[in-house]
Amino acid sequence: MDHFDYRDGVLHAEDVPLPDLAEAVGTPFYCYSTATIERHFRVFSEALAGVGVEPPLIAYAVKANPNKSVIATLAALGAGADVVSIGELRRAMAGGVPADRIVFSGVGKTREELTEALSLGIFQFNLESEPEAEMLSEVAVALGKTAPVSFRVNPDVDAGTHRKISTGKAENKFGVPISRALDAYALAARLPGLDPLGVAVHIGSQLTQLGPMEAAFARVGELIAELRAAGHDIRRADLGGGLGIPYDRSKAVPPLPSAYGEMVARVTRDWGVRLTFEPGRLIVGNAGVLVSRVIRVKQGETSSFIIVDAAMNDLIRPTLYEAWHDILAVEPREGRIAATIVGPVCETGDTFAEDRPISPVDAGDLIAFMTAGAYGATMASTYNSRPLVPEVVVSKEKWAIVRPRPPVESMIDADLLAPWLADKG
Ligand SMILES: *Cc1c(COP(=O)(O)O)cnc(C)c1O
Repeated sequence: MDHFDYRDGVLHAEDVPLPDLAEAVGTPFYCYSTATIERHFRVFSEALAGVGVEPPLIAYAVKANPNKSVIATLAALGAGADVVSIGELRRAMAGGVPADRIVFSGVGKTREELTEALSLGIFQFNLESEPEAEMLSEVAVALGKTAPVSFRVNPDVDAGTHRKISTGKAENKFGVPISRALDAYALAARLPGLDPLGVAVHIGSQLTQLGPMEAAFARVGELIAELRAAGHDIRRADLGGGLGIPYDRSKAVPPLPSAYGEMVARVTRDWGVRLTFEPGRLIVGNAGVLVSRVIRVKQGETSSFIIVDAAMNDLIRPTLYEAWHDILAVEPREGRIAATIVGPVCETGDTFAEDRPISPVDAGDLIAFMTAGAYGATMASTYNSRPLVPEVVVSKEKWAIVRPRPPVESMIDADLLAPWLADKG
């Protein structure tokens, strides 16, 4: 469910007509709905309210949408944060998430990152290897602190998602193979400065079936029992994120948070731990749209092309993951055409949709890429010297630019001329 609806034939974000925003901000731009973000966080929290021995930590996966206003909206509701770099950790805190609600994930944390995070007193480190445990132990000893750690285990489960966002298969780079987990915890227990208090798992993103998650969680449950039998005091389990969302409104919807919550309650009933969840896409995906203007329509040999002013550098999901986004005319006209919708970047991969049915559009019309709130702006680049797309947040009839469009000059001025070239300039 989201808060982007037609009123009198014009697509609105909550109470704000998108053409008004396009007029004020220029195109393309991302637009996020506060009501949708808040609703999704509440629905997810309520679905998991009763699981575990104390209220779970819902740690929003910052990488899905790291805008400070988005983080602050969630922090105000009590959200924690799941971060994968020191940049995300600092962003989470700048958005108002207290350090003791922050989980540090990621396969390549550096000594500097571990040092800063431990000094700040975060909730938990999710370690992805034995050498990382050794490094964190050295950091902890140097700081005279004890680090709360879980190992992220790789359960070798096929999550049934796109291969570029599957993370829980044996051949993926993530986590410690579950077959080696007992040895890894024995090592962590021997190392000074580590408190191995939990187990973590995250098998992938945009998961549209509960079965693979349930299989992975069941393995975590078995591991917790084995770890306790080996003398480890396991008090926490982190079940990651990954629950999928509807991108194509004409298709079956993925499992609802309520169904996910029932499955989690059933599988974890006897674990006796506090649970953590790391939802990203589920919270912000449907809370954002990318609004773009049609530059021109051109006829090719075999299809007609709608050339819009957004491109693959602004929204990379279609070309990176063959992902589908519903594409709507902001002010639809009568009838229906089929067209290939492309951006101006000089790559054939800069194609958002092929032979897509859409309302007839002309140069100057606005279109909206739906479900663009997660892994949209955050994955944007300046390829083809296109400035990063601005971001706008709406709340009822109010709106604010929360990331302005940088001037083209700022990109050019960021480069420094090598001194031997400057002389000739
Ligand atoms: C990306 C990621 C998440 C969030 O995944 P979503 O599919 O957006 O819910 C959670 N945990 C970890 C470790 C991740 O890498």
